[in-house]
Amino acid sequence: MSEIVERVMEISGQNLYSCYQCGNCSAGCMFTDEMDILPHQVIALAQNGDKSVLDINTPWICASCFICSVRCPRGLDVTTIMEALREIKIRERNFIKIDLRKVDIEKLPQIAITAAAQKFTW
Ligand code: SF4
Ligand code: SF4
Repeated sequence: MSEIVERVMEISGQNLYSCYQCGNCSAGCMFTDEMDILPHQVIALAQNGDKSVLDINTPWICASCFICSVRCPRGLDVTTIMEALREIKIRERNFIKIDLRKVDIEKLPQIAITAAAQKFTW
């Protein structure tokens, strides 16, 4: 088993190999227009242990809405897999850091602050 597969499965608690690429997750995702590749393609890359999965924007565009997880016929929590991919990237410590002192927080919608806290803090 490749390192990337092991880490994603350890962090997410999900069995990547249970995905059979039906595409139901991607069909329900509302943010695919902004994504480099679709959610089911992310799963395929991760299944293959392809490290390029860490350099695509899809996990960062993901809004953690859980629609994909609800739609998956195999019960795979795709949302948590996206979260795991973000965590792996963050733990590399070479991710873009945002200086919150330069952001006008009062102008941001509340959901943006919540999402940023989840994605950009460690
Ligand atoms: S819905 Fe589930 S089984 Fe289908 S492609 Fe997405 S993760 Fe894989
Ligand atoms: S949790 Fe992320 S990948 Fe899944 S449907 Fe929502 S935005 Fe798309």
